[in-house]
Amino acid sequence: MTGEAPPLVPGGIVGIVGGGQLGRMLALAAAQLGLHCHIYTSEENSPASAVASQTICAPYDDEQALGQFAAKVDVITYEFENIPLETIDFLSQRKPVRPSAHALDVAQDRLTEKTFIREIGIPVADFSTVNDLHSLQEAVAGLGTPCVLKTRHFGYDGKGQVLIQDSAQCKEAYTALEGAPAIAEAFVSFEREVSVLVSRFIDGAVVFYDPVENEHKNHILHRSYAPARLTTAERGAALSCGARLVEALDYVGLLAVELFVLPEGDSQEPHLLVNEIAPRVHNSGHWTQDACATSQFEQHIRAVCGWPSGDVMRHCDAVMTNLIGDDVERWHMMASEPACALLFTVRMIFARAVKWAT
Ligand code: AMP
Repeated sequence: MTGEAPPLVPGGIVGIVGGGQLGRMLALAAAQLGLHCHIYTSEENSPASAVASQTICAPYDDEQALGQFAAKVDVITYEFENIPLETIDFLSQRKPVRPSAHALDVAQDRLTEKTFIREIGIPVADFSTVNDLHSLQEAVAGLGTPCVLKTRHFGYDGKGQVLIQDSAQCKEAYTALEGAPAIAEAFVSFEREVSVLVSRFIDGAVVFYDPVENEHKNHILHRSYAPARLTTAERGAALSCGARLVEALDYVGLLAVELFVLPEGDSQEPHLLVNEIAPRVHNSGHWTQDACATSQFEQHIRAVCGWPSGDVMRHCDAVMTNLIGDDVERWHMMASEPACALLFTVRMIFARAVKWAT
């Protein structure tokens, strides 16, 4: 079910599947637009539930609970991509779900995702399917070393990934993934990692935030710098990847596209590879809450509710730092820093600081 329906008016109810920190920020943004949020989550006392009007806490395969949820809301979105596809299919038969089940299907499986991206003409790192040790050995022989073995499903923050430095490590790497379906991917010696946050609206309008540059620590996003250091040609190429992806997916909502920027070679063409996509709001977009008139969260809610785009222009430079574990203890010191916004997302264990240029 897609929506040629009229926009959801203030007072309407947005259903959010997933109760995590991103759901929490979506619910807060929706509240500012006069919309109510109902959360569907399997987690007791979830971060999103604390700020939403109602929560149904039940397993993702509980059809009775899902039916009740769908009956109460006007439109449905989701805040993480590891929701069973059957759940979203079930809900889609009852209420508009944006982004669609198709976008989720593509993003849930690295093989489907990379194949899809390559088929629409966007470069990705070379990859091969891995179903057993033999296919891994063949893949490594073809791709060369180093290369990266990645599970097809449920990988995040480097989990489900093994770097293979030498073909003799195939058995050890394959064992580490415990037989999970996987892909092997050529190692990319990138110069930097950037992400593009692109939103598409029910009328087909496509609107971008400035691309950001991402720095990882132990595979976890540590800092995002807005704007990314990109040449005009690289910026154009990155935005064009985002536009082609949302068009090809007939997407409604905010999509995050993570890209590798390769060192400038002999060619005059910008050399970018898409690493992955996330059909939702994204950690690398938190700075938009402080440095843009319309945050990524509001922008996503606007899109899924049939509203027009907000103003996404960046009015200052910003750096977002993820505070995890012991870093959170520094919150008090940061609370008095000028030009710094603190955002607690998951109780006292996870926070973010966004500093902007004054
Ligand atoms: P992913 O789960 O695919 O987003 O990977 C997490 C991080 O691992 C990325 O942000 C990169 O820093 C690194 N990474 C993933 N794939 C590759 C690759 N093929 N070559 C080099 N680094 C990679």
